[in-house]
Amino acid sequence: MKKHNFSAGPCILPKEVMQKASDAVLELDGIGLSLIEISHRSKEFVDIMDKARSLALELMGLEGKGYQALFLHGGASLQFLMTAYNLLDKKAGYVNTGTWSQKAIKEARLLGDVVEVASSQEQNFNYIPKGYSVPSDLDYLHLTSNNTIFGTQIKEFPETNVPLVCDMSSDIFSRQLDFSKFDLIYAGAQKNMGPAGATLVVVKEDILGKVSRKIPSMLDYSIHVKQESMFNTPPVFAVYVSMLTMQWLKDLGGIAAIEEINERKANLIYSEIELNPVFSGYAAKEDRSLMNATFNITDDALKDTFDTMCKDAGISGINGHRSVGGYRASMYNALPMESVGVLVDIMSELEKKG
Ligand SMILES: *Cc1c(COP(=O)(O)O)cnc(C)c1O
Repeated sequence: MKKHNFSAGPCILPKEVMQKASDAVLELDGIGLSLIEISHRSKEFVDIMDKARSLALELMGLEGKGYQALFLHGGASLQFLMTAYNLLDKKAGYVNTGTWSQKAIKEARLLGDVVEVASSQEQNFNYIPKGYSVPSDLDYLHLTSNNTIFGTQIKEFPETNVPLVCDMSSDIFSRQLDFSKFDLIYAGAQKNMGPAGATLVVVKEDILGKVSRKIPSMLDYSIHVKQESMFNTPPVFAVYVSMLTMQWLKDLGGIAAIEEINERKANLIYSEIELNPVFSGYAAKEDRSLMNATFNITDDALKDTFDTMCKDAGISGINGHRSVGGYRASMYNALPMESVGVLVDIMSELEKKG
């Protein structure tokens, strides 16, 4: 039976990407060898890496603007440390919008002064702080564009002269932004780009080389830039699938095209949450995420019925994160509109039963 995959991550990828990726595991483009059994220094793989790096910059409109794209190991979680290692000389600012920001703050504190510039912790992160001022003496300001667990998303980024670092793990390539406002962007592949194992880092070259500490090679962006993201064996399969997904997105019309689809999917579910008294949304309306819709059931007596109806319809992965409870429907780029339609139909059917 066909499943509707609302998983928060690792998550759904485009069908044709999965088909091509499966084929390449057996044999890459008719070369008589598998993608995962050839040298990463072979022309075939170097071409894949180059293509992945240039597609990332192209989709973000950052070509020729002094940025480099890297595909590194260690997940977004290693970037919590690596950003601070490379950029935090004296003091950095963090906006605390939930679990992932808190983890980033914890790592940065190992290396320097960290100020929490703003936080929404007092309301268990159900909104995005706004109107805060950014101290001008920061080495950088760190933001999390989309809070996967709480279902909030930054709609307007602060205007500041301080370099901006942003964890875009769960909304990379999902909406149009002026990416040139950011000095460093990172994203674990497994939310909206590919399988786990690769992390995209897009870094403006001129912010590197300014800290006084010695940086271990594997943690040094400059070394990865110089080695064209091949300092050591890259996660070849994850890079390949990410490249295919970016190509899929480009063929679809790029971020502008997917943003329109993502908005339609999100509107469909949020209007149901608003109109249907059986459900209530978790995130503040103006901060709701296009990617992760978080909601609760207002009448606990209906929970079992709802869960059974979802199961029977093949809906998978909508349980909320353990720290929030309730439900979370993740609607990443590859999730078809049809899947959201199936979920919304069940929600309105439940109202009639209630
Ligand atoms: C999932 C997630 C992470 C953690 O990613 P890993 O690749 O597992 O380290 C970090 N930040 C955000 C916003 C996430 O959604």
